[in-house]
Amino acid sequence: MNFNIAIDGPAGAGKSTVAKIVADTLNMTYIDTGAMYRAITLLSIRHNKSDINDIVELIKQIEIKIEGKRVYIDNEDVSDDIRSIEVTNEVSRIAKIPEIRHVMIQLQREMAKNKGVVMDGRDIGTIVLPDAKYKFFLTADVRERAIRRYREMIRKGHDVTLEQVEKDIEYRDFQDKNRDYSPLKAAEDAVIIDTTNKTIQQVVEEIIDVIKRGEGIVL
Ligand code: C5P
Repeated sequence: MNFNIAIDGPAGAGKSTVAKIVADTLNMTYIDTGAMYRAITLLSIRHNKSDINDIVELIKQIEIKIEGKRVYIDNEDVSDDIRSIEVTNEVSRIAKIPEIRHVMIQLQREMAKNKGVVMDGRDIGTIVLPDAKYKFFLTADVRERAIRRYREMIRKGHDVTLEQVEKDIEYRDFQDKNRDYSPLKAAEDAVIIDTTNKTIQQVVEEIIDVIKRGEGIVL
């Protein structure tokens, strides 16, 4: 496909699951930008660095690679490590640093320059790819989002409570919405989809319908 799709929204709104299915359906490349911020956060924890300049220096020395749902730092598969509770709790603090966002945004634009990507994140439709042909903003009640994340974490064997997960999500949303540089926000021209009472399949269908109409195609 000769266009890009931006999918933004808060934590647990179903972005990554939906974006991956949309990408597979349309034979496009899925890019999870949250995974990139998580990889940088993991790096800063591992190297015990909190100084902005030190972290930016670290980023310059490594290669972050995203292949579907797998993420690599210098060829090491860190896909599971970046989903740890430690990284999750720290990521929005790292992601709000303008110098770090600047580097990430350049990388993301580079990945999308030949078109054909479905990119999910917080600022894709507003800052990273403001010219994306299709933009969606997925939301859901915070309780519903917390329940989804809680189930996912329990399935993966994490020892958490629903209240804790809900608090973490609220904290992360607050940080993401209130940062100065490229905050979590729906683009003015984004299609807003409330996923609270919808299945993944319904949300995917809504998105595919918009694209079918826009392209005048039958899939
Ligand atoms: O999507 P996910 O929940 O994995 O993202 C983790 C964190 O990365 C978010 O809470 C946010 O702080 C940051 N992020 C961001 N900009 C993006 C994608 C993610 O700031 N485009």
